[in-house]
Amino acid sequence: MTLDTPPKLACPDQLELSGGLPTLMGSRCRNCGEVYFPASQGCTRCCAIDMEPFTLGSEGLLWSWTIQGFQPKTPYNGGESEADFKPYGVGYVEMPSGVKVESRLTVADPAALRIGMPMVLTLEAYRQVPGEAPVFTYAFAPAA
Ligand SMILES: [Zn+2]
Repeated sequence: MTLDTPPKLACPDQLELSGGLPTLMGSRCRNCGEVYFPASQGCTRCCAIDMEPFTLGSEGLLWSWTIQGFQPKTPYNGGESEADFKPYGVGYVEMPSGVKVESRLTVADPAALRIGMPMVLTLEAYRQVPGEAPVFTYAFAPAA
């Protein structure tokens, strides 16, 4: 997906949008190299607090998935009524660094998802309330 205007993001610190394509941003320990998503202020592996920004990329492999079939409780704030809720896919996507990112999926059809399939990062409007700008979050879609 390409972006003509900057979207309102639910998680602006976790994304880089330069070039019009979303990229996940995490952190890496300068002492031992452990990678974190979301970014961490300290390393739970070696206890160092010397962290640097780390680009996780925009592509990964579907590690596991499920379908969210009912409206989650708060703090979910999609804005729709329980009657208007539409199921969505949720999965873990393994990034090239080895970090597994929990993410919304653009696909909610079990027949279209399989473990190990290539996935690509995109943005999805998850909160759409009349009179408000839609709020986007990151999501993974099956790679073409
Ligand atoms: Zn460390």
